[in-house]
Amino acid sequence: MTIQREQLEADVLIVGAGPAGLACALYLARLIKQHNQTGGKPVLSAENIYVLEKGREVGAHQLSGAVMDPRGLAELIPDFEKSAPPGTLDTPVTDDAAYFFTERRAWKFPITPPPLRNHGNYVVSLNKLVKWLGGLVEQEGINLFTQFAGAQLIYEGEGIAGVITEDKGLDKDGKAKDNFTPGYELRAKVTVLAEGPRGSLTKDLVSRRKLDNLNPQVYGMGIKELWEVPAGRIDPGFTAHTLGWPLDTSMYGGGWVYGLRENRVSLGMVVSLEYHNSLFDPHEAFQKYKTHPFVKQILEGGKLVRYGAKTVPYGGWYSMPRTYVDGGLIIGDSASFLNSQRLKGIHMAIKSGMLAAETIFEALCSGDVSAKALSAFPKKVEASWIKKELWEVRNFHQGYAHGLYAGLFHTALQFVSGGRGLIDPMRTKPGYEAYQRIDGRAAPERFKGDGTLTFDRLTDVYHSGTRHEEDQPCHLVVADTSICADRCVREYGNPCQYFCPAAVYEMVKEKGELRLKINASNCVHCKTCDIADPYQIINWVPPEGGGGPNYEGM
Ligand SMILES: Cc1cc2nc3c(=O)[nH]c(=O)nc-3n(C[C@H](O)[C@H](O)[C@H](O)COP(=O)(O)OP(=O)(O)OC[C@H]3O[C@@H](n4cnc5c(N)ncnc54)[C@H](O)[C@@H]3O)c2cc1C
Ligand code: SF4
Repeated sequence: MTIQREQLEADVLIVGAGPAGLACALYLARLIKQHNQTGGKPVLSAENIYVLEKGREVGAHQLSGAVMDPRGLAELIPDFEKSAPPGTLDTPVTDDAAYFFTERRAWKFPITPPPLRNHGNYVVSLNKLVKWLGGLVEQEGINLFTQFAGAQLIYEGEGIAGVITEDKGLDKDGKAKDNFTPGYELRAKVTVLAEGPRGSLTKDLVSRRKLDNLNPQVYGMGIKELWEVPAGRIDPGFTAHTLGWPLDTSMYGGGWVYGLRENRVSLGMVVSLEYHNSLFDPHEAFQKYKTHPFVKQILEGGKLVRYGAKTVPYGGWYSMPRTYVDGGLIIGDSASFLNSQRLKGIHMAIKSGMLAAETIFEALCSGDVSAKALSAFPKKVEASWIKKELWEVRNFHQGYAHGLYAGLFHTALQFVSGGRGLIDPMRTKPGYEAYQRIDGRAAPERFKGDGTLTFDRLTDVYHSGTRHEEDQPCHLVVADTSICADRCVREYGNPCQYFCPAAVYEMVKEKGELRLKINASNCVHCKTCDIADPYQIINWVPPEGGGGPNYEGM
Protein backbone atom coordinates (compact mmCIF):
# COMPACT_ATOMS: atom_id res chain seq x y z
CA MET A 1 0.00 0.00 0.00
CA THR A 2 1.16 3.58 -0.60
CA ILE A 3 1.32 5.42 2.66
CA GLN A 4 0.92 9.18 3.04
CA ARG A 5 3.31 10.29 5.73
CA GLU A 6 3.36 13.47 7.70
CA GLN A 7 6.69 15.24 7.26
CA LEU A 8 8.51 17.01 10.05
CA GLU A 9 11.74 18.93 9.68
CA ALA A 10 14.38 19.34 12.37
CA ASP A 11 17.92 20.65 12.50
CA VAL A 12 19.11 17.58 14.37
CA LEU A 13 17.50 14.19 14.85
CA ILE A 14 19.02 11.84 17.41
CA VAL A 15 17.94 8.20 17.29
CA GLY A 16 18.25 6.58 20.72
CA ALA A 17 17.89 8.13 24.16
CA GLY A 18 20.74 6.34 25.89
CA PRO A 19 23.70 8.09 27.53
CA ALA A 20 25.22 8.92 24.12
CA GLY A 21 22.11 10.37 22.48
CA LEU A 22 21.00 12.32 25.54
CA ALA A 23 24.48 13.74 26.20
CA CYS A 24 24.60 14.86 22.58
CA ALA A 25 21.18 16.56 22.82
CA LEU A 26 21.88 18.23 26.16
CA TYR A 27 25.32 19.54 25.26
CA LEU A 28 24.14 20.79 21.89
CA ALA A 29 21.26 22.68 23.52
CA ARG A 30 23.72 24.35 25.89
CA LEU A 31 26.05 25.34 23.05
CA ILE A 32 23.06 26.78 21.20
CA LYS A 33 21.93 28.73 24.27
CA GLN A 34 25.40 30.26 24.74
CA HIS A 35 25.62 31.09 21.04
CA ASN A 36 22.23 32.81 20.99
CA GLN A 37 22.93 34.69 24.22
CA THR A 38 26.13 36.13 22.76
CA GLY A 39 24.35 37.25 19.59
CA GLY A 40 25.71 34.43 17.39
CA LYS A 41 24.32 34.03 13.87
CA PRO A 42 22.38 32.17 12.62
CA VAL A 43 20.01 32.00 15.58
CA LEU A 44 19.54 28.34 16.45
CA SER A 45 16.90 26.68 18.60
CA ALA A 46 16.91 23.65 20.90
CA GLU A 47 13.32 23.06 19.77
CA ASN A 48 14.77 21.98 16.45
CA ILE A 49 16.50 19.03 18.10
CA TYR A 50 14.43 15.83 18.11
CA VAL A 51 15.27 12.68 20.04
CA LEU A 52 13.55 9.34 19.32
CA GLU A 53 13.43 6.47 21.79
CA LYS A 54 11.74 3.13 21.11
CA GLY A 55 11.26 2.28 24.81
CA ARG A 56 7.94 2.99 26.51
CA GLU A 57 9.74 5.61 28.58
CA VAL A 58 13.26 7.00 28.75
CA GLY A 59 15.51 4.42 30.42
CA ALA A 60 13.16 1.46 29.83
CA HIS A 61 15.70 -0.25 27.55
CA GLN A 62 18.82 0.68 29.53
CA LEU A 63 20.71 -2.25 30.92
CA SER A 64 24.21 -2.10 32.25
CA GLY A 65 26.34 -3.56 35.09
CA ALA A 66 26.74 -0.71 35.90
CA VAL A 67 29.93 0.65 37.40
CA MET A 68 30.38 4.08 35.89
CA ASP A 69 33.66 5.88 35.44
CA PRO A 70 32.38 9.40 36.16
CA ARG A 71 34.78 11.10 33.74
CA GLY A 72 32.20 11.68 30.99
CA LEU A 73 29.38 12.72 33.29
CA ALA A 74 31.67 15.14 35.16
CA GLU A 75 32.38 16.93 31.87
CA LEU A 76 28.71 17.07 30.95
CA ILE A 77 27.40 18.01 34.40
CA PRO A 78 30.31 19.23 36.55
CA ASP A 79 28.22 19.24 39.78
CA PHE A 80 26.66 15.83 39.05
CA GLU A 81 27.34 14.53 42.56
CA LYS A 82 25.18 17.29 44.05
CA SER A 83 22.58 17.60 41.33
CA ALA A 84 21.78 13.94 40.57
CA PRO A 85 18.45 12.89 42.12
CA PRO A 86 18.80 10.57 45.12
CA GLY A 87 19.50 6.94 44.16
CA THR A 88 20.79 7.76 40.67
CA LEU A 89 24.42 7.28 41.68
CA ASP A 90 23.57 4.32 43.87
CA THR A 91 26.84 4.17 45.73
CA PRO A 92 30.52 5.01 45.26
CA VAL A 93 32.70 1.91 44.89
CA THR A 94 34.20 1.14 48.31
CA ASP A 95 36.20 -1.99 47.56
CA ASP A 96 36.93 -4.31 44.66
CA ALA A 97 38.23 -7.81 44.09
CA ALA A 98 38.75 -10.31 41.28
CA TYR A 99 38.33 -14.09 41.53
CA PHE A 100 38.98 -17.15 39.44
CA PHE A 101 36.15 -19.67 39.86
CA THR A 102 36.41 -23.42 39.75
CA GLU A 103 33.14 -25.28 40.30
CA ARG A 104 33.43 -25.18 44.11
CA ARG A 105 36.18 -22.69 44.90
CA ALA A 106 36.81 -18.97 44.40
CA TRP A 107 40.50 -18.07 44.14
CA LYS A 108 41.03 -14.42 44.93
CA PHE A 109 43.65 -12.64 42.81
CA PRO A 110 46.35 -11.34 45.17
CA ILE A 111 45.91 -7.89 43.64
CA THR A 112 42.95 -6.67 41.61
CA PRO A 113 44.12 -6.32 37.98
CA PRO A 114 44.25 -2.58 37.09
CA PRO A 115 41.35 -2.66 34.56
CA LEU A 116 39.05 -4.09 37.25
CA ARG A 117 39.98 -1.52 39.91
CA ASN A 118 37.02 0.68 40.54
CA HIS A 119 37.98 3.17 43.22
CA GLY A 120 36.62 6.58 42.24
CA ASN A 121 33.80 4.99 40.23
CA TYR A 122 30.11 4.70 41.07
CA VAL A 123 27.70 1.81 40.97
CA VAL A 124 24.71 3.38 39.23
CA SER A 125 21.31 2.45 37.96
CA LEU A 126 21.68 3.28 34.26
CA ASN A 127 17.90 3.34 34.03
CA LYS A 128 17.75 6.11 36.65
CA LEU A 129 20.75 7.98 35.25
CA VAL A 130 19.20 8.08 31.81
CA LYS A 131 15.80 9.14 33.19
CA TRP A 132 17.52 12.06 34.89
CA LEU A 133 19.35 13.03 31.69
CA GLY A 134 16.07 12.73 29.77
CA GLY A 135 14.43 15.20 32.16
CA LEU A 136 17.29 17.68 31.69
CA VAL A 137 17.00 17.33 27.92
CA GLU A 138 13.29 18.16 28.05
CA GLN A 139 13.94 21.15 30.31
CA GLU A 140 16.11 22.56 27.50
CA GLY A 141 13.09 22.56 25.19
CA ILE A 142 14.28 19.60 23.10
CA ASN A 143 11.56 17.35 21.64
CA LEU A 144 12.02 13.91 23.14
CA PHE A 145 9.63 11.34 21.68
CA THR A 146 9.41 8.02 23.50
CA GLN A 147 7.59 5.00 22.00
CA PHE A 148 8.88 5.94 18.55
CA ALA A 149 11.45 3.86 16.74
CA GLY A 150 13.53 4.91 13.78
CA ALA A 151 12.41 2.19 11.35
CA GLN A 152 14.18 3.24 8.12
CA LEU A 153 16.83 5.72 7.20
CA ILE A 154 16.10 8.29 4.53
CA TYR A 155 19.07 8.00 2.18
CA GLU A 156 20.05 10.95 0.07
CA GLY A 157 23.07 10.81 -2.22
CA GLU A 158 25.95 9.28 -0.28
CA GLY A 159 24.47 10.32 3.05
CA ILE A 160 21.33 10.37 5.16
CA ALA A 161 18.60 12.95 5.64
CA GLY A 162 16.47 11.61 8.50
CA VAL A 163 14.37 8.60 9.37
CA ILE A 164 10.91 7.18 8.92
CA THR A 165 9.40 6.08 12.20
CA GLU A 166 7.59 2.77 12.48
CA ASP A 167 4.00 2.41 11.33
CA LYS A 168 1.69 1.80 14.27
CA GLY A 169 -1.47 -0.28 14.15
CA LEU A 170 -0.57 -2.96 11.59
CA ASP A 171 -1.76 -6.50 12.25
CA LYS A 172 0.45 -9.57 12.11
CA ASP A 173 -0.08 -9.86 8.35
CA GLY A 174 0.90 -6.22 7.81
CA LYS A 175 -2.69 -5.03 7.24
CA ALA A 176 -3.92 -1.76 8.72
CA LYS A 177 -6.04 -2.08 11.86
CA ASP A 178 -8.57 0.56 13.02
CA ASN A 179 -5.86 2.37 14.97
CA PHE A 180 -3.40 2.47 12.05
CA THR A 181 -1.11 5.50 12.19
CA PRO A 182 1.55 5.84 9.52
CA GLY A 183 5.11 6.53 10.64
CA TYR A 184 6.40 10.08 10.32
CA GLU A 185 8.98 11.17 7.83
CA LEU A 186 11.40 13.05 10.06
CA ARG A 187 13.92 14.99 8.02
CA ALA A 188 16.94 16.61 9.58
CA LYS A 189 20.10 18.44 8.55
CA VAL A 190 22.05 16.05 10.77
CA THR A 191 20.87 12.60 11.89
CA VAL A 192 22.76 11.04 14.79
CA LEU A 193 22.63 7.29 15.29
CA ALA A 194 22.91 6.57 19.01
CA GLU A 195 21.12 3.22 18.96
CA GLY A 196 23.47 1.31 21.25
CA PRO A 197 24.92 -2.06 20.25
CA ARG A 198 23.94 -3.48 16.83
CA GLY A 199 21.60 -0.62 15.98
CA SER A 200 19.22 -1.64 13.22
CA LEU A 201 19.65 1.63 11.30
CA THR A 202 23.39 1.69 11.97
CA LYS A 203 23.73 -1.85 10.63
CA ASP A 204 21.98 -0.84 7.42
CA LEU A 205 24.04 2.32 6.99
CA VAL A 206 27.36 0.61 7.72
CA SER A 207 26.62 -2.13 5.22
CA ARG A 208 25.19 0.10 2.46
CA ARG A 209 27.91 2.71 2.65
CA LYS A 210 30.66 0.18 3.48
CA LEU A 211 31.72 1.99 6.62
CA ASP A 212 33.30 -1.06 8.27
CA ASN A 213 36.79 -0.74 9.67
CA LEU A 214 39.69 -3.18 9.58
CA ASN A 215 37.82 -5.64 11.82
CA PRO A 216 34.12 -6.46 11.86
CA GLN A 217 32.32 -5.63 15.09
CA VAL A 218 32.23 -8.50 17.58
CA TYR A 219 29.94 -8.68 20.57
CA GLY A 220 29.45 -10.05 24.02
CA MET A 221 26.06 -10.85 25.45
CA GLY A 222 25.32 -9.85 29.02
CA ILE A 223 22.64 -11.32 31.22
CA LYS A 224 21.82 -9.52 34.43
CA GLU A 225 19.63 -9.97 37.46
CA LEU A 226 18.88 -7.52 40.23
CA TRP A 227 18.23 -9.10 43.64
CA GLU A 228 17.12 -8.05 47.09
CA VAL A 229 19.02 -10.05 49.69
CA PRO A 230 18.94 -10.35 53.48
CA ALA A 231 20.89 -7.58 55.27
CA GLY A 232 24.63 -7.98 55.75
CA ARG A 233 25.34 -10.23 52.78
CA ILE A 234 27.42 -7.76 50.74
CA ASP A 235 28.66 -4.24 51.43
CA PRO A 236 27.21 -1.47 49.26
CA GLY A 237 29.95 -0.42 46.87
CA PHE A 238 31.79 -3.77 46.87
CA THR A 239 32.46 -4.90 43.30
CA ALA A 240 33.64 -8.43 42.46
CA HIS A 241 34.60 -9.67 38.99
CA THR A 242 35.04 -13.34 38.24
CA LEU A 243 36.66 -15.45 35.55
CA GLY A 244 36.37 -19.19 34.97
CA TRP A 245 33.50 -21.54 35.89
CA PRO A 246 30.92 -22.11 34.51
CA LEU A 247 32.56 -20.88 31.29
CA ASP A 248 35.23 -23.14 29.90
CA THR A 249 38.65 -21.77 29.11
CA SER A 250 38.03 -21.75 25.35
CA MET A 251 35.53 -18.93 25.93
CA TYR A 252 35.93 -15.28 26.76
CA GLY A 253 33.66 -13.94 29.43
CA GLY A 254 33.10 -13.56 33.12
CA GLY A 255 30.74 -12.60 35.87
CA TRP A 256 30.16 -9.75 38.26
CA VAL A 257 28.56 -9.21 41.64
CA TYR A 258 28.09 -5.62 42.84
CA GLY A 259 26.69 -4.56 46.20
CA LEU A 260 24.10 -1.77 46.05
CA ARG A 261 22.36 0.22 48.75
CA GLU A 262 19.25 -1.14 50.50
CA ASN A 263 20.47 -4.75 50.34
CA ARG A 264 20.26 -5.00 46.59
CA VAL A 265 22.75 -6.83 44.41
CA SER A 266 23.52 -6.46 40.71
CA LEU A 267 24.92 -9.64 39.26
CA GLY A 268 25.45 -10.96 35.80
CA MET A 269 27.63 -12.61 33.25
CA VAL A 270 28.94 -11.50 29.88
CA VAL A 271 29.91 -14.07 27.27
CA SER A 272 31.64 -13.30 24.02
CA LEU A 273 29.45 -14.35 21.08
CA GLU A 274 32.36 -16.18 19.47
CA TYR A 275 32.04 -19.55 21.19
CA HIS A 276 32.43 -22.83 19.31
CA ASN A 277 29.65 -24.90 20.84
CA SER A 278 26.48 -23.90 18.97
CA LEU A 279 24.36 -25.59 21.67
CA PHE A 280 25.81 -23.43 24.44
CA ASP A 281 23.11 -21.66 26.43
CA PRO A 282 24.30 -18.38 28.03
CA HIS A 283 21.16 -18.11 30.16
CA GLU A 284 21.74 -21.55 31.63
CA ALA A 285 25.41 -20.75 32.27
CA PHE A 286 24.38 -17.66 34.20
CA GLN A 287 21.84 -19.63 36.24
CA LYS A 288 24.57 -22.12 37.16
CA TYR A 289 26.85 -19.22 38.08
CA LYS A 290 24.42 -18.36 40.88
CA THR A 291 24.86 -21.82 42.39
CA HIS A 292 28.59 -21.23 42.95
CA PRO A 293 29.16 -21.09 46.74
CA PHE A 294 30.59 -17.55 46.50
CA VAL A 295 27.47 -16.21 44.75
CA LYS A 296 24.92 -18.47 46.44
CA GLN A 297 25.86 -17.36 49.97
CA ILE A 298 25.06 -13.78 48.93
CA LEU A 299 21.73 -14.56 47.24
CA GLU A 300 20.27 -17.34 49.37
CA GLY A 301 17.02 -16.29 51.02
CA GLY A 302 16.80 -13.24 48.75
CA LYS A 303 14.49 -12.57 45.84
CA LEU A 304 14.85 -11.78 42.17
CA VAL A 305 13.65 -8.27 41.35
CA ARG A 306 14.52 -7.71 37.69
CA TYR A 307 16.05 -9.56 34.77
CA GLY A 308 17.48 -8.40 31.48
CA ALA A 309 19.90 -9.12 28.66
CA LYS A 310 21.73 -6.98 26.17
CA THR A 311 24.75 -7.13 23.90
CA VAL A 312 28.00 -5.21 24.24
CA PRO A 313 30.28 -4.17 21.35
CA TYR A 314 33.64 -5.76 22.15
CA GLY A 315 35.67 -4.90 19.04
CA GLY A 316 37.12 -1.56 20.20
CA TRP A 317 39.24 0.77 18.09
CA TYR A 318 39.83 -1.47 15.08
CA SER A 319 36.11 -2.30 14.81
CA MET A 320 34.98 1.31 14.84
CA PRO A 321 33.03 2.05 11.66
CA ARG A 322 33.52 5.32 9.83
CA THR A 323 31.46 7.57 12.07
CA TYR A 324 30.37 10.26 9.61
CA VAL A 325 28.53 10.54 6.29
CA ASP A 326 26.81 13.46 4.60
CA GLY A 327 24.22 14.57 7.15
CA GLY A 328 24.95 11.79 9.63
CA LEU A 329 27.05 10.72 12.63
CA ILE A 330 27.32 7.50 14.63
CA ILE A 331 28.07 7.69 18.38
CA GLY A 332 28.21 5.62 21.59
CA ASP A 333 28.05 1.82 21.48
CA SER A 334 26.81 1.97 17.88
CA ALA A 335 30.24 3.40 16.99
CA SER A 336 32.23 0.93 19.20
CA PHE A 337 33.10 3.45 21.91
CA LEU A 338 33.43 0.85 24.65
CA ASN A 339 36.47 -0.38 26.56
CA SER A 340 35.93 -4.14 26.64
CA GLN A 341 38.83 -4.72 29.02
CA ARG A 342 37.04 -2.66 31.68
CA LEU A 343 33.53 -3.50 30.41
CA LYS A 344 32.80 0.21 30.49
CA GLY A 345 31.11 2.32 27.88
CA ILE A 346 28.88 4.81 29.72
CA HIS A 347 31.64 7.41 30.11
CA MET A 348 32.62 7.11 26.45
CA ALA A 349 29.03 7.18 25.25
CA ILE A 350 28.59 10.51 27.07
CA LYS A 351 31.87 11.93 25.80
CA SER A 352 31.21 10.84 22.22
CA GLY A 353 27.78 12.52 22.44
CA MET A 354 29.43 15.76 23.58
CA LEU A 355 32.02 15.67 20.80
CA ALA A 356 29.27 15.00 18.27
CA ALA A 357 27.34 17.99 19.69
CA GLU A 358 30.38 20.26 19.17
CA THR A 359 30.75 18.98 15.61
CA ILE A 360 27.08 19.49 14.81
CA PHE A 361 27.04 22.95 16.36
CA GLU A 362 29.96 24.02 14.17
CA ALA A 363 28.30 22.48 11.11
CA LEU A 364 24.98 24.25 11.77
CA CYS A 365 26.75 27.57 12.27
CA SER A 366 28.68 27.22 9.03
CA GLY A 367 25.69 25.82 7.14
CA ASP A 368 27.76 22.87 5.97
CA VAL A 369 26.59 19.41 7.12
CA SER A 370 28.52 17.47 4.49
CA ALA A 371 30.67 14.45 5.35
CA LYS A 372 33.70 16.72 5.01
CA ALA A 373 32.39 19.08 7.69
CA LEU A 374 31.24 16.23 9.94
CA SER A 375 34.62 14.50 9.63
CA ALA A 376 35.62 16.92 12.41
CA PHE A 377 33.97 14.37 14.75
CA PRO A 378 36.56 11.57 14.45
CA LYS A 379 39.29 14.21 14.68
CA LYS A 380 37.83 15.40 17.97
CA VAL A 381 37.67 11.77 19.12
CA GLU A 382 41.33 11.31 18.15
CA ALA A 383 42.29 14.33 20.21
CA SER A 384 40.27 13.25 23.25
CA TRP A 385 40.79 10.76 26.07
CA ILE A 386 38.52 8.29 24.21
CA LYS A 387 41.32 7.63 21.72
CA LYS A 388 43.94 7.25 24.46
CA GLU A 389 41.81 4.81 26.43
CA LEU A 390 40.74 2.72 23.44
CA TRP A 391 44.18 2.76 21.81
CA GLU A 392 45.76 1.09 24.84
CA VAL A 393 43.34 -1.83 24.51
CA ARG A 394 43.12 -1.91 20.70
CA ASN A 395 44.18 -5.56 20.51
CA PHE A 396 42.74 -6.70 23.81
CA HIS A 397 39.66 -8.62 22.78
CA GLN A 398 41.27 -10.18 19.71
CA GLY A 399 43.91 -11.74 22.02
CA TYR A 400 41.24 -14.08 23.43
CA ALA A 401 40.40 -15.70 20.09
CA HIS A 402 42.26 -18.84 21.19
CA GLY A 403 40.90 -18.99 24.71
CA LEU A 404 41.50 -17.63 28.16
CA TYR A 405 45.14 -18.60 28.72
CA ALA A 406 46.33 -17.28 25.34
CA GLY A 407 44.31 -14.16 26.05
CA LEU A 408 45.93 -13.56 29.44
CA PHE A 409 49.35 -13.99 27.80
CA HIS A 410 48.52 -11.43 25.08
CA THR A 411 47.03 -9.05 27.65
CA ALA A 412 50.27 -9.08 29.66
CA LEU A 413 52.34 -8.31 26.55
CA GLN A 414 49.94 -5.58 25.48
CA PHE A 415 50.04 -4.09 28.96
CA VAL A 416 53.81 -3.56 28.84
CA SER A 417 53.81 -2.36 25.22
CA GLY A 418 51.04 0.28 25.36
CA GLY A 419 48.51 -2.01 23.66
CA ARG A 420 50.72 -3.20 20.81
CA GLY A 421 51.42 -6.77 21.97
CA LEU A 422 52.80 -9.41 19.60
CA ILE A 423 50.76 -8.42 16.55
CA ASP A 424 49.30 -5.02 15.78
CA PRO A 425 46.67 -4.74 14.41
CA MET A 426 45.32 -8.11 15.50
CA ARG A 427 42.54 -9.19 13.17
CA THR A 428 39.23 -10.77 14.08
CA LYS A 429 36.36 -12.55 12.34
CA PRO A 430 32.60 -12.22 12.85
CA GLY A 431 31.69 -14.23 15.94
CA TYR A 432 29.21 -16.59 14.23
CA GLU A 433 32.04 -18.01 12.11
CA ALA A 434 33.44 -19.67 15.25
CA TYR A 435 30.63 -22.25 15.56
CA GLN A 436 31.63 -25.85 15.04
CA ARG A 437 29.18 -28.26 13.46
CA ILE A 438 27.27 -30.46 15.91
CA ASP A 439 28.25 -33.69 14.14
CA GLY A 440 25.22 -35.59 15.41
CA ARG A 441 25.48 -34.40 19.02
CA ALA A 442 22.10 -34.67 20.76
CA ALA A 443 20.26 -31.54 21.86
CA PRO A 444 20.83 -30.88 25.57
CA GLU A 445 17.94 -31.01 28.02
CA ARG A 446 16.56 -27.58 28.75
CA PHE A 447 17.36 -26.00 32.08
CA LYS A 448 14.36 -25.60 34.38
CA GLY A 449 15.81 -23.99 37.50
CA ASP A 450 14.71 -24.55 41.09
CA GLY A 451 12.38 -21.55 41.14
CA THR A 452 14.13 -19.82 44.04
CA LEU A 453 17.80 -19.36 43.16
CA THR A 454 17.72 -20.39 39.51
CA PHE A 455 15.00 -19.87 36.93
CA ASP A 456 13.91 -20.92 33.49
CA ARG A 457 13.90 -18.31 30.78
CA LEU A 458 10.18 -17.59 30.87
CA THR A 459 10.28 -16.79 34.57
CA ASP A 460 13.17 -14.47 33.92
CA VAL A 461 11.41 -12.79 30.98
CA TYR A 462 8.48 -12.12 33.29
CA HIS A 463 10.91 -10.22 35.55
CA SER A 464 12.12 -8.09 32.62
CA GLY A 465 8.75 -6.35 32.38
CA THR A 466 8.65 -7.15 28.66
CA ARG A 467 5.46 -6.33 26.80
CA HIS A 468 4.63 -6.07 23.10
CA GLU A 469 1.44 -5.59 21.13
CA GLU A 470 0.76 -9.21 20.08
CA ASP A 471 -1.03 -8.46 16.80
CA GLN A 472 1.73 -6.78 14.82
CA PRO A 473 4.16 -7.90 12.12
CA CYS A 474 6.94 -10.08 13.55
CA HIS A 475 9.97 -7.89 14.23
CA LEU A 476 12.35 -10.83 13.88
CA VAL A 477 12.53 -11.16 10.15
CA VAL A 478 13.93 -14.52 9.10
CA ALA A 479 14.86 -14.38 5.45
CA ASP A 480 14.45 -18.11 4.74
CA THR A 481 12.96 -20.36 7.42
CA SER A 482 13.54 -23.47 5.31
CA ILE A 483 17.24 -23.15 6.24
CA CYS A 484 16.25 -23.60 9.91
CA ALA A 485 14.41 -26.87 9.30
CA ASP A 486 16.62 -28.32 6.56
CA ARG A 487 20.19 -27.21 7.19
CA CYS A 488 20.63 -25.52 10.53
CA VAL A 489 19.05 -28.39 12.47
CA ARG A 490 21.66 -30.79 11.06
CA GLU A 491 24.66 -28.46 10.94
CA TYR A 492 24.38 -26.39 14.13
CA GLY A 493 21.33 -27.75 16.01
CA ASN A 494 19.40 -24.43 15.73
CA PRO A 495 21.50 -22.29 18.08
CA CYS A 496 18.78 -19.60 18.20
CA GLN A 497 16.94 -21.89 20.64
CA TYR A 498 19.92 -21.68 23.00
CA PHE A 499 21.47 -18.22 22.63
CA CYS A 500 18.20 -16.29 22.91
CA PRO A 501 17.87 -15.35 26.59
CA ALA A 502 14.11 -14.86 26.27
CA ALA A 503 12.85 -18.15 24.80
CA VAL A 504 11.76 -16.48 21.58
CA TYR A 505 12.86 -19.18 19.16
CA GLU A 506 11.53 -22.75 19.23
CA MET A 507 11.78 -25.52 16.67
CA VAL A 508 8.43 -27.31 16.78
CA LYS A 509 7.12 -30.38 14.99
CA GLU A 510 3.74 -29.92 13.34
CA LYS A 511 2.18 -32.62 11.17
CA GLY A 512 5.55 -34.34 11.08
CA GLU A 513 7.31 -31.21 9.79
CA LEU A 514 9.88 -29.26 11.72
CA ARG A 515 9.34 -25.50 11.69
CA LEU A 516 10.60 -22.39 13.43
CA LYS A 517 8.15 -20.82 15.88
CA ILE A 518 8.92 -17.25 16.94
CA ASN A 519 7.47 -15.99 20.24
CA ALA A 520 8.29 -12.39 19.33
CA SER A 521 6.48 -10.81 22.25
CA ASN A 522 9.08 -12.25 24.68
CA CYS A 523 11.91 -10.36 22.98
CA VAL A 524 14.03 -8.24 25.34
CA HIS A 525 15.73 -6.42 22.42
CA CYS A 526 19.20 -7.78 23.22
CA LYS A 527 20.03 -8.21 19.48
CA THR A 528 21.88 -11.49 20.02
CA CYS A 529 19.95 -13.31 17.27
CA ASP A 530 20.83 -10.67 14.69
CA ILE A 531 24.50 -11.12 15.60
CA ALA A 532 24.89 -14.81 16.41
CA ASP A 533 22.76 -16.60 13.84
CA PRO A 534 25.17 -18.76 11.82
CA TYR A 535 23.56 -18.04 8.44
CA GLN A 536 22.93 -14.34 9.09
CA ILE A 537 19.31 -14.68 8.02
CA ILE A 538 17.76 -13.07 11.10
CA ASN A 539 17.18 -9.35 10.85
CA TRP A 540 16.05 -7.61 14.03
CA VAL A 541 13.86 -4.62 13.14
CA PRO A 542 12.14 -2.38 15.67
CA PRO A 543 8.65 -3.50 16.72
CA GLU A 544 5.95 -0.93 17.46
CA GLY A 545 7.41 1.76 19.70
CA GLY A 546 6.80 1.23 23.39
CA GLY A 547 7.25 -2.55 23.12
CA GLY A 548 10.11 -4.36 24.82
CA PRO A 549 11.47 -4.63 28.33
CA ASN A 550 11.11 -2.23 31.22
CA TYR A 551 14.42 -2.16 33.06
CA GLU A 552 13.15 -0.15 36.00
CA GLY A 553 15.97 0.37 38.50
CA MET A 554 18.50 -1.67 36.46
C1 LIG B 1 25.48 -6.46 30.54
C2 LIG B 1 26.16 -5.15 30.38
C3 LIG B 1 26.97 -4.64 31.39
C4 LIG B 1 27.59 -3.42 31.22
N1 LIG B 1 28.32 -2.91 32.27
C5 LIG B 1 28.84 -1.68 32.16
C6 LIG B 1 29.48 -1.09 33.28
O1 LIG B 1 29.57 -1.68 34.35
N2 LIG B 1 29.99 0.17 33.13
C7 LIG B 1 29.89 0.85 31.95
O2 LIG B 1 30.38 1.99 31.85
N3 LIG B 1 29.29 0.30 30.88
C8 LIG B 1 28.75 -0.93 30.96
N4 LIG B 1 28.09 -1.46 29.90
C9 LIG B 1 28.05 -0.72 28.63
C10 LIG B 1 27.10 0.47 28.67
O3 LIG B 1 25.83 0.08 29.14
C11 LIG B 1 27.02 1.06 27.26
O4 LIG B 1 28.32 1.35 26.81
C12 LIG B 1 26.18 2.33 27.20
O5 LIG B 1 24.89 2.11 27.69
C13 LIG B 1 26.13 2.82 25.75
O6 LIG B 1 25.30 3.93 25.64
P1 LIG B 1 24.59 4.28 24.26
O7 LIG B 1 23.80 5.51 24.50
O8 LIG B 1 25.59 4.26 23.17
O9 LIG B 1 23.62 3.05 23.95
P2 LIG B 1 22.42 2.44 24.80
O10 LIG B 1 22.63 2.64 26.24
O11 LIG B 1 22.25 1.06 24.30
O12 LIG B 1 21.16 3.31 24.37
C14 LIG B 1 20.61 3.23 23.09
C15 LIG B 1 19.15 3.62 23.14
O13 LIG B 1 18.66 3.70 21.81
C16 LIG B 1 17.38 3.11 21.72
N5 LIG B 1 17.23 2.68 20.32
C17 LIG B 1 17.95 1.74 19.66
N6 LIG B 1 17.56 1.66 18.38
C18 LIG B 1 16.56 2.56 18.22
C19 LIG B 1 15.77 2.96 17.11
N7 LIG B 1 15.97 2.43 15.90
N8 LIG B 1 14.82 3.90 17.31
C20 LIG B 1 14.63 4.47 18.55
N9 LIG B 1 15.37 4.13 19.63
C21 LIG B 1 16.34 3.21 19.47
C22 LIG B 1 17.44 1.97 22.71
O14 LIG B 1 16.14 1.59 23.13
C23 LIG B 1 18.28 2.59 23.84
O15 LIG B 1 17.48 3.22 24.80
C24 LIG B 1 27.45 -2.69 30.02
C25 LIG B 1 26.62 -3.18 29.00
C26 LIG B 1 25.98 -4.40 29.19
C27 LIG B 1 25.07 -4.90 28.11
S1 SF4 C 1 14.71 -12.60 19.84
FE1 SF4 C 1 16.81 -11.89 19.49
S2 SF4 C 1 16.85 -9.80 20.26
FE2 SF4 C 1 15.01 -10.75 21.08
S3 SF4 C 1 15.62 -11.55 23.07
FE3 SF4 C 1 15.92 -13.24 21.62
S4 SF4 C 1 18.03 -13.08 20.93
FE4 SF4 C 1 17.51 -11.13 21.96
